[in-house]
Amino acid sequence: MNCFDCAIQDRSAQAVAVCTGCGAAVCLTHAHVTRRWLTTTMAINRTVSVQPPTRTLRCATCQAAHDAQAATTHATAG
Ligand SMILES: [Zn+2]
Ligand SMILES: [Zn+2]
Repeated sequence: MNCFDCAIQDRSAQAVAVCTGCGAAVCLTHAHVTRRWLTTTMAINRTVSVQPPTRTLRCATCQAAHDAQAATTHATAG
C-alpha cells in the first residue's frame, strides 16, 4: 500500500503505518507517533501510570487536528 498523504501530492511512497484517526496509510515521513500513558487505579483511588506507554500513529492531518484540540483544551483550562 502507498502513503495517502504522498499520493495526494502526486508522489509515491511505501506506507509503513495506518492512521488511527482516519485509517489512511502513511509513510514514515507522514506518520506521527504519540505516546499515551494508560493509567490504573490502585488502592485508595490512587491513579498510577502503566509502563510502557502505548503509542498512537496518526497522519499529518489527524495530528494537526489533535494538536489544535489540545491547544484549545489548554487555553480553556487556564
Ligand atoms: Zn507520505
Ligand atoms: Zn488520519
